[in-house]
Amino acid sequence: MLAQPLMKGSPVQVSPFDVERLRRDFPILRTSVRGKPLIYLDNAATTQKPQVMIDALRRYYEAQNANIHRGVHYLSELGTKLYEDVRQKAKDFVRADDWREVIFVKGTTEAINLVASTYGRSRVNEGDEIVISGMEHHSNIVPWQMLCGEKNAKLRVIPLNDAGELLLDEYERLLTPTTRLVAVAHVSNALGTVNPLRQIIAMAHAKGIPVLVDGAQAVPHMKVDVRELDCDFYAFSAHKMYGPTGIGILYGKSSFLQDMPPYQGGGDMIKSVTFEKTLFNDLPYKFEAGTPNIADTIAFGATLDYLQSLDWTTLTQYEHDLLTYATEQLTEIRGLKVIGTAREKAGVLSFTLENIHPHDIGTILDQEGIAVRTGHHCAQPVMIRYDVPATVRASFAFYNTREEVDALVRGIHKVVEVFA
Ligand code: PLP
Repeated sequence: MLAQPLMKGSPVQVSPFDVERLRRDFPILRTSVRGKPLIYLDNAATTQKPQVMIDALRRYYEAQNANIHRGVHYLSELGTKLYEDVRQKAKDFVRADDWREVIFVKGTTEAINLVASTYGRSRVNEGDEIVISGMEHHSNIVPWQMLCGEKNAKLRVIPLNDAGELLLDEYERLLTPTTRLVAVAHVSNALGTVNPLRQIIAMAHAKGIPVLVDGAQAVPHMKVDVRELDCDFYAFSAHKMYGPTGIGILYGKSSFLQDMPPYQGGGDMIKSVTFEKTLFNDLPYKFEAGTPNIADTIAFGATLDYLQSLDWTTLTQYEHDLLTYATEQLTEIRGLKVIGTAREKAGVLSFTLENIHPHDIGTILDQEGIAVRTGHHCAQPVMIRYDVPATVRASFAFYNTREEVDALVRGIHKVVEVFA
């Protein structure tokens, strides 16, 4: 455990990292499943939610509900303000330059599809190339594949070494005059690898190629600064960072967003409409057609306030120590193989057990109240790369504990006994 205060500005030193106090902010962590206390290790799929977010969602429907942007009545103006405040909060969270660079979308998947449909459709032509990596989630593969199919362009893939790190020499070779975009994960959901983004982005920019970052698995674990990274697009989902489902962010540099055609047509994304011609709205509304997800956006604002109140240096270190501890403990189990052993990792521990199918492992752990994910984790090319049909994935959040890791280890020993 770390000897640092948890909350920013809390009185000097030396209360240990008080994970128990932090756990109390998440009501579901007090519940049981199958008669056992819940041990939730499926955070890469979605995280649990703090009470403040749940309260904000409830408050919105009980006392604030109205449609936004176009109403002149009290509730509509209140909702508009609450909603637009979240844009500022999201801008501050990733340290963007301007609130107009924050586009509300459903999640990472929609953010990437938006860029593929608008930037991609308008800039990619026959014979052009898009570079992705061999560790991408399907949502950062399929939209590019669809675009390449439509345009007769080519998808190029940066290969991985056995540890799950990108081969940067190969990457350098893939960057050619016909490359139109690099789209790469910040953190891999299947391997836990943290990619050397600054280098990846600098290498692309040196050849005038823009970079989209899939940040879905990074924002829950580390402070992201889009200006420092100098990425051109950064996509993430609220539900993987202690916020609600159905809302996410596409950050884009305004120089790109300005020139991109709209994504969908409809209300709110226009300045004026006649049957002859539509004038599109300014940023960011040009990309936000129709009634947005008002309630979840406002609830996400409560999550962002909550996250901003935490000391991220301490949390990141705590999570790092927890992952190291879990890796050490699991590696001692006979027949267990960790898939993804990169030097820089965050949040994710994927593994296989000799001769036992991951789904059987997941089912037996579930009987112990332990929630892990089993399968291909929407990253089938990663499974092919490591020649496994599936893995078990334990994924961590800052509310997980060493005691929970110990319970996981006991659970895996039970699995081994059952199959002995
Ligand atoms: N990218 C990564 C790395 C992910 O882990 C996920 C979800 O697991 C996604 C994209 C898709 O996120 P969403 O389903 O919230 O759109």
